[in-house]
Amino acid sequence: MPSTADRKAENNWYWSIPKVELHCHLEGSIRFSRLINEYVRQGIALPTDDVPAQRDFFLIETPVPDLSAFVDKFDHIHKIFADLSVLEAITEEVIEDKFNEGVVMFEMRWAPSYISGSFEYDFNDILRYIQRGVAKGRAKCDNKIEVGMICIAVGALGAEQFKKTADFCIANKDAFIAFDIAGNEVNAGQYKEYMDQLHAAGVNITVHAAEDRVAGKPENAIIAVEDLHATRIGHGIQTEKDPAAFKTILDRDIHLELCPSSNYVTNSVDSVADHPIRRFFDLGANISLNTDDPGLMAVDLPHEYKLLHELPSLHFTPAEFKDMNLKAIEASFMPKHIKDKVRDTWFSHKDPLGIAVPLPDLQPAKQVAAAAVAAAVATAAAPAAQPSVQQKKERKTRIAEDVLSPVEGMQPERKKEGRRCCCF
Ligand SMILES: [Zn+2]
Repeated sequence: MPSTADRKAENNWYWSIPKVELHCHLEGSIRFSRLINEYVRQGIALPTDDVPAQRDFFLIETPVPDLSAFVDKFDHIHKIFADLSVLEAITEEVIEDKFNEGVVMFEMRWAPSYISGSFEYDFNDILRYIQRGVAKGRAKCDNKIEVGMICIAVGALGAEQFKKTADFCIANKDAFIAFDIAGNEVNAGQYKEYMDQLHAAGVNITVHAAEDRVAGKPENAIIAVEDLHATRIGHGIQTEKDPAAFKTILDRDIHLELCPSSNYVTNSVDSVADHPIRRFFDLGANISLNTDDPGLMAVDLPHEYKLLHELPSLHFTPAEFKDMNLKAIEASFMPKHIKDKVRDTWFSHKDPLGIAVPLPDLQPAKQVAAAAVAAAVATAAAPAAQPSVQQKKERKTRIAEDVLSPVEGMQPERKKEGRRCCCF
């Protein structure tokens, strides 16, 4: 058995290895504690005082049985936007959390039409609160994390909403680094007129496509690339089913923003172990590793690194993670001088573990949670061993601190029901 010190050192590299994250939704990254606190502060009725039941109410920690379960979760989150100013604190916390996870360049996306929703806010007010949160969050991290924002249109909400969002993005193109289409996958070709306008205005394009196994048709990714000016695809995993579509992705060097745990809980893959990320990597696909909706799904980026390193069917090495991060920098929509600075500062060392993001004291609870994850994995690998009192205590801490047990991702139930997408 490794010593506690060895295990701690081994565990810490998942956290301290520098990371670039390109696919993460602000609205899906809200801390569980923030959701509870906002319900209480704003006088919104919680369905229960029981913490596990509250987690069940807000979070998706196992594959969802049907689409309605997912829609419900976003409805529950949306209630806290009754006070729009909460966006500032949420954004600040998300950036702080990302830096604590070792993220040094972060593309954060959000959908003004979802946040506005029934409250009918001015999109410009939403932008202002989020921009203030970005500035405060970066300052809290000594500006060591670079942050860019992607504006999302929800494809399923129709042309009027799409046009409004596209116009908003073009009018604020200095505030955004790119535009995205998300939500239930629809034929995004119907929005070509607006995508042409965005492209003509110089806005970068990424599109959620070929995500789930029902609506996520491989040709959706090809439409995005060939008709809608996308240079990146959110997910794109279903292209594996269509050799011609996948060849197009490879030939054009289209970057795929992959999110393994998200694909598992949305029933887009049978398990994280079966995720195509290893096959894509070995075939030379241009890919990155991301969380998607980490708050909603109770994961974090170190958790994804740990799963991909420890699952025998995937087994990514630190050098391969570095390779993916370099590809992420290349594919990033951030300005070139920032990408160059990030590459030189954090990824210039020959040893992929040679430059570590200092584990800050901002949230020591996160490190406690990381130790708890390591203990849970060790227990899963050796089921005959009885957990120590300390391990039991750490597992309890883990639940309280909002971290998904990797055992759930490593030994999933196989569920066949399809569902639509990772957001809205
Ligand atoms: Zn997404």
